[in-house]
Amino acid sequence: MRLRAGRARSKWVGGIAGQNCPMPETKALSEPQKALAKLGLARDIDLALHIPLRYEDETRIVKLRDAREGDTIQVEATVVDCQVQYRPRRQLVVKVDDGTDTCVLRFFTFYPSQQKSLAVGTQLRIRGEVKGGFLGWQMVHPSWKQAGGDLPEALTPVYSTVAGLPQPYLRKAVAGGLQRADLSETIPPDAPPAPGRAREWTLLQALQFLHHPAPEVSIVALEDRSHPAWQRLKAEELLAQQLSQLQSRREHDRLQAPALRAGEGGLHEQLLAALPFQLTQAQRRVSEEIAQGLRRERPMHRLLQGDVGSGKTVVAALAAAIAIDAGWQCALMAPTEILAEQHFRKLIGWLEPLLMPRGLRVAWLTGSQRKKERGEMLDLVASGEAALVVGTHAVIQEQVQFKALALAIIDEQHRFGVEQRLALRGKMRADMAPSPSRGRAGEGGTTDAQGEVSAQREPHLLMMSATPIPRTLAMSYYADLDVSTIDELPPGRTPVVTKLISDSRRGEVVERIRAQVAQGRQVYWVCPLIEESETLDLTNATATHQDLSEALPGVMVGLLHSRMPAPEKKAVMALFTGGQMGVLVSTTVIEVGVDVPNASLMVIEHAERFGLSQLHQLRGRVGRGAAASACVLLYSAGDHGRLGDTARARLKAMAETGDGFEIARRDLEIRGPGEFLGARQSGAPLLRFADLSLDTALLQWAREVAPLMLDRHPELAEHHVSRWLGGKSEYLKA
Ligand code: ADP
Ligand code: MG
Repeated sequence: MRLRAGRARSKWVGGIAGQNCPMPETKALSEPQKALAKLGLARDIDLALHIPLRYEDETRIVKLRDAREGDTIQVEATVVDCQVQYRPRRQLVVKVDDGTDTCVLRFFTFYPSQQKSLAVGTQLRIRGEVKGGFLGWQMVHPSWKQAGGDLPEALTPVYSTVAGLPQPYLRKAVAGGLQRADLSETIPPDAPPAPGRAREWTLLQALQFLHHPAPEVSIVALEDRSHPAWQRLKAEELLAQQLSQLQSRREHDRLQAPALRAGEGGLHEQLLAALPFQLTQAQRRVSEEIAQGLRRERPMHRLLQGDVGSGKTVVAALAAAIAIDAGWQCALMAPTEILAEQHFRKLIGWLEPLLMPRGLRVAWLTGSQRKKERGEMLDLVASGEAALVVGTHAVIQEQVQFKALALAIIDEQHRFGVEQRLALRGKMRADMAPSPSRGRAGEGGTTDAQGEVSAQREPHLLMMSATPIPRTLAMSYYADLDVSTIDELPPGRTPVVTKLISDSRRGEVVERIRAQVAQGRQVYWVCPLIEESETLDLTNATATHQDLSEALPGVMVGLLHSRMPAPEKKAVMALFTGGQMGVLVSTTVIEVGVDVPNASLMVIEHAERFGLSQLHQLRGRVGRGAAASACVLLYSAGDHGRLGDTARARLKAMAETGDGFEIARRDLEIRGPGEFLGARQSGAPLLRFADLSLDTALLQWAREVAPLMLDRHPELAEHHVSRWLGGKSEYLKA
């Protein structure tokens, strides 16, 4: 509309944080559209399910007399003064009076036309945050328009948004999505009614209400999500989750795998007898759980969790022995070459003497392998001569063809993405030969795969992790996962003493290193993680390496980082493992799984920058032998002289407990389940609305309804799942 001097506009002008920006022109829509995509708001239903963060009450006009400090309020008042001031900087200062009190409005940017339309005598409707002060109420950059006109009947939603996506645009988009989305009833009439007051609302009503609640609603009920509209929304969400899991489980039930059984006097027994130690009770228990899983004709999907150093590797080797014993192949995948190499050495040490008389071998696959060696290894894998295949991601590459893969083991599974886990299963499914290649296979019911060609067959899957997933999370986010837990460390370990030391006392730490090395012990020094920048990490590690070399004459100080060529890494690792190298300075490449029992001191520089589970993993590198071990967390409070709250909470947790499960629990507390699992780790669509620990009655209901719905109303179930999860449900299976 055209503006005339001295008259306020009938549309809102200005405002806080762009909340009242005018709608952009149609041709300039691409940036907000991109932003919408970034928020995952692609479909109408996604928009409809984008529930406001909070609300603003524009339904009322407040008297200035009744205003409270910091409130965002709406008032109607008359301009009594309007002038440009130049101190402390140029600004337009407008004084308004609503008959109960006055308020000063300040604008630091303004146009002459605005100045004109704020002339004395003009009646305005003003919205902004009031601050009290020595001189009375003030608002900085309030939004304003001509007084009068209708007030909205519902609260105004404020949505979470991203840069480039102004609230008014998002509001319009959501309102449009809400109008267009198919919100027809999916919960069948023969389902038991939802508990509490959730049943009183349809999804359509609930969403319409949550986007535009009546002003008299209890803000508390909206905020704590106890309002029936929220209950209904949560019931729907939980039902979608339960349906999706049930679908996965049923799909899983249709899959087949070779039943693997350890033969009497076979490899499994021989390996047990050859081990230089007795299994702990916990190791025996989980081994039995795994053995039972492998005996079934359904692929096992099992997570083996156990604290750092609890001895998962040998349990994996025993599982491998069962598969090999039955005449099949086993693959073991680790996230780094160092770790893969370590497994390789250990497993060779344990298994090769037992495999050789059977004419079998262990093969080794990594990215850095020479072409010739790799070719030889690929042949061994394809012919089935390699009964055990160990390696990094190279194991899942296309050229790798297994003769008869029956068991895939993934170490440090949380380090692999969901896609890789899915790829492994998918690939091995395709590769898996219909029958075992050799040995005892086919005898005495070990397997009965002869002649049966089926794409539905899959290898058994054993995933290992030192980062335990709390049981409730495991149950809710993994559809068909069994969990085995090693809750006991091998005997003879002394707990690691953890010390928090300020970086200003670095000198003392170097003295400590000197003392350890003098006793024939070895030391790790881990350098900080600098915001995604490998180059900076490296500079830092190199500098520390230099400092320590100078401070510790006569001690071999090595350097290990991810940019080093593989053979160099191997050489450094060999010197450290062999005991010649006293101190190993490293970036986080040593994080997982490295096993050097003689190492007794771990120093972590800038510990405040590491995540809790990462710190725990690193600490687990020491305390692997009988010697008393320590972990020093060097922290630096930074320029502000104060650690952030979460960094402080993490370091405190590290100092207070050495128990990996307790650490995981605290990590969950500090980060919340969303971050804890992360889309990358779980791939599972996390619950946005429901809270598993609070909404147990709704969860119970969803568990009851899901099977009924899948059996009697498959098309409604399908509709419901795709409404809530879109294309994401595939990930629940990995
Ligand atoms: P993690 O669970 O962290 O992968 P490892 O499998 O690397 O732990 O085992 C840690 C160390 O403990 C290894 O040196 C391993 O040989 C040793 N170990 C495993 N089980 C036992 C046991 N029952 N008794 C003594 N030592 C064991
Ligand atoms: Mg390990």
